[in-house]
Amino acid sequence: MFMVKGEGSRITDADGRTYIDLCCSWGPLILGHAHPAVTEAIVQTVRNGASFGTPTVQENELAELIIDNHRSVERLRFVSSGTEAVMSAIRLARGFTGRAKVLKFEGCYHGHVDALLVQAGSGLVTLGNSSSAGVTPGVVNDTVVVGLNDLGAAQTAFEQYKGQIAAVIIEPVPANNGLLLQPSEFLSGLRQLCDREGALLIFDEVISGFRVGFEGAAGHYNIKPDLLTFGKIIGGGMPVGAYGGRDEVMRTVSPEGPVYQAGTLSGNPVAMAAGRAQLSECLTPGFYENLEAKAKRLVEVVNAHAQAKGHEVHMWHCASIFWIAFSNRPAIRRADQIDPASMAKFRVFYHALLERGVYMGPSGYEVGFFSAAHTSADVEAVAAAFCAAIDLAFDNT
Ligand SMILES: *Cc1c(COP(=O)(O)O)cnc(C)c1O
Repeated sequence: MFMVKGEGSRITDADGRTYIDLCCSWGPLILGHAHPAVTEAIVQTVRNGASFGTPTVQENELAELIIDNHRSVERLRFVSSGTEAVMSAIRLARGFTGRAKVLKFEGCYHGHVDALLVQAGSGLVTLGNSSSAGVTPGVVNDTVVVGLNDLGAAQTAFEQYKGQIAAVIIEPVPANNGLLLQPSEFLSGLRQLCDREGALLIFDEVISGFRVGFEGAAGHYNIKPDLLTFGKIIGGGMPVGAYGGRDEVMRTVSPEGPVYQAGTLSGNPVAMAAGRAQLSECLTPGFYENLEAKAKRLVEVVNAHAQAKGHEVHMWHCASIFWIAFSNRPAIRRADQIDPASMAKFRVFYHALLERGVYMGPSGYEVGFFSAAHTSADVEAVAAAFCAAIDLAFDNT
């Protein structure tokens, strides 16, 4: 499907069909498509030239807006994508601690950073096996993978690699392999473990940042990571990433410190202006409460429908991120609790939604998003379409 136009909550494909969009470009468009303030900022800025290769005031303005409103970000650095943010944060953690290994969790996606394209094999603690062609064993040799919601496994990994783990990286709201909501005690347990072992805690907030609240998951769970990575929403639909966190750690980046990082188009003024316009809107009082109410309503309607019909379906949400699982489990917290066979039902559901004018990411492992542009009529239309599409999925598989 090729999309040619987006406006508010709607997208239009090349054949002229219009859909209510629940993908929102995989999360960045928290204000919806072509929001006037964002569009205006982009157009006004680009009239003065697209890039200079020097500092620009737009970069400082976006940085200031974030630092002033986010307790975990004392300093930050802009890059051009979420992947680049994670890659740079990992290098920084290694440079700061002088250690090599990184602990990640099965089912957490951190962009296409070679060393993190790894899933767990079997066993409690597994040294990574690459999950992409072109990633050599040498590159993933320093990546340790354990299951989510398993503090014991993380502790074991620290014992096994005593003094060698530079950082624990996690999506605090894992949202790239279903929505695997973690108990807050697990996340605070990781904070304590990192403190005790002298490792850095990195929250990959590329999806959750500015989404589950302006302060993202760090604010939602009230946990202060050492480093945070951002992307998606931060650029207002333009290619932007950033990493930031504790001042002392960030000072290790060049030119102040010995950890190199640079980017020709990083801090691009047009992208910075788009990000600033979008994040300014997010600071409007009640913004996040309004967004969350939409996801809560959808989840309530769908779960009640599924229960009444006896369908084995559950929906969850965290703020305005939601996920549907064709499963009878009341909670799914780990990647291995998702039954691959359930994706047959998702495929029927997905196509039934398209026929009803609702667009979602075409995979049952992907989450959906509400934007500020979705009206309550949109939410009701989406809820009705979900219920009908679920019924079809159970009739036809
Ligand atoms: C999307 C995402 C990334 C990668 O960001 P890109 O901009 O696609 O490179 C990294 N981490 C998380 C948690 C993401 O959701």
